[in-house]
Amino acid sequence: MAVRKNIKKTTLVEFEKSYQFSDESNVRRHHDGRLYLPSAYCQNGHKLMTDDARFDGLRGIKLLVINGEERHIIIASPFINDQRKEGPNFPEGTKVVLCCPVCQEELEQLVPCTCAPGAYRRAIYLTPNPKDIGAVGVCEAFGCPQSFVNDNGELLYEVELTDGDA
Ligand SMILES: [Zn+2]
Ligand SMILES: [Zn+2]
Repeated sequence: MAVRKNIKKTTLVEFEKSYQFSDESNVRRHHDGRLYLPSAYCQNGHKLMTDDARFDGLRGIKLLVINGEERHIIIASPFINDQRKEGPNFPEGTKVVLCCPVCQEELEQLVPCTCAPGAYRRAIYLTPNPKDIGAVGVCEAFGCPQSFVNDNGELLYEVELTDGDA
């Protein structure tokens, strides 16, 4: 059955073209060109990287997701602009509470997301110290791919959802 749908697509916008990728940088470039996070932390410095699931060989990012009375573990891909995740599925757009699986605190609110009124992007930090101002802002609306990456206070990338017909 062929159903024509207005399929949304994501676009990765690059802001800082002079970012120095290295074996030490907080954002790294995979040998195939994709960008990924080598490490991730909550605002209290807890490591979110896990060996429980790997994505193309790289460790995933473990999050505690609270949906009403339900508590689940979801492991997200460390690649930027990659929506793969392991764990339960919720209806698209469900507003969930994203938490650190160690301290169980809600990840910090950064800025509103444009996908829905009241949806915020939450901080996954690139270093154990939030004062380093390196973070990925991920949306708390389930399935929303929109996010951004900054490092040293500079906006590096933004993933935007756009209407596409392909
Ligand atoms: Zn924590
Ligand atoms: Zn969103």
